[in-house]
Amino acid sequence: MNPHELTTSMYGGPVDSAVLPATIPDDSFKEAQGSILFVERFFNHLLKSTKRGTEVKICITRSTSMACSLHQHAGEVFTIIVPLGVIARLRVLTRMLLEYWDQEKKVVILNSPLDKIAPDNWHIPSRMIPLFGQNMDQDDEKFWTGLAELDAMLSPAPESAQDVLELQHLALVHLIAHEFTHAWERHLSILKSNMSDVSLAPYDLHRKDLEKCIELHADIMAVELSTRILELQVHGADSDADVSLVRGFLRMGYMVTMLYSLYDPERKYLYAYDKDRYTHPLVRREMSIDFIRKIVSLLFPDMLDHVMENVKHGWMRCLWAINDMNLDAMSGKFGKIESGKLYFPIGLAMGGDASASYIAQEINTATNLVLRFVNLVKDLADEEYGKQ
Ligand SMILES: [Zn+2]
Repeated sequence: MNPHELTTSMYGGPVDSAVLPATIPDDSFKEAQGSILFVERFFNHLLKSTKRGTEVKICITRSTSMACSLHQHAGEVFTIIVPLGVIARLRVLTRMLLEYWDQEKKVVILNSPLDKIAPDNWHIPSRMIPLFGQNMDQDDEKFWTGLAELDAMLSPAPESAQDVLELQHLALVHLIAHEFTHAWERHLSILKSNMSDVSLAPYDLHRKDLEKCIELHADIMAVELSTRILELQVHGADSDADVSLVRGFLRMGYMVTMLYSLYDPERKYLYAYDKDRYTHPLVRREMSIDFIRKIVSLLFPDMLDHVMENVKHGWMRCLWAINDMNLDAMSGKFGKIESGKLYFPIGLAMGGDASASYIAQEINTATNLVLRFVNLVKDLADEEYGKQ
């Protein structure tokens, strides 16, 4: 077994496309395979240009996990694992949210990320547990059956089928780009090195910040790589294909909002993440939108306003859909409501232009942290290339 096969076997083993779960129809699986093949080539091309001898292989596995992961082998060889559980959740969540497209109630549920509510007091309605619940609480069979039951409740407009596939593609690219950044920017070596607080002082960083820094760095690089890949795919499409850069960005705004809503739906207090390796999903989401603006202003400055209008449109439509989904959850559509429990599956502070100053402050703090870390990464890379 080569290292990629070995890693795949630890995550449920390879996928037999003849026996896919009900929540992943053939077109969805083929789309995922296509997305993966494309980004694998793109990333290996990037790696080759640095002559580091690094290579990355992306493998779909039967795991029900909700997260992709990166594994390093000898000689800077990496495997990125994409579980079927990720592909299935992305598809079901996309279908669930797109069902509200053009049906939006536009009612805002007021809940504040400053309310310090214990995670135990948040409840995910029973039918939504396969989608939003922690993986360790569910066995595989229960997960697939439950997710298929939830999926069977959904009936987005037939004409949104292509949007479902495109959003799944953009989300997979983004998630894989996040993992790839950990390999490309040598995050694992940085974590393993014995950098002291003294050596980090010139960057105004501490050892305890490093895990958070690498995750934020992977988030913003995922935005940059996704944007570049989107541009490449739109410009590389056949001239008669129905593609548009602007529509791509509308979907990207929608996708980023959807993606960060999927993680940690039970921990909504803004400051609950201070000691965590991850940052609050709301902050990650808003920071990603900010970075789309930065990358677009570099890549297509003439289109900046038009593109960002579309990114924001996608972002807003997704927030409305999440709001409507929360309302449906509160009404008991996705399972019984126990009195006294809080049932919003997803926290919904608005962020962006409508953001409260305390959220803007968290986004600033995270952005400054990651920019200081980028300086460190640059200096370390210069040192490394100096040695060669
Ligand atoms: Zn990560």
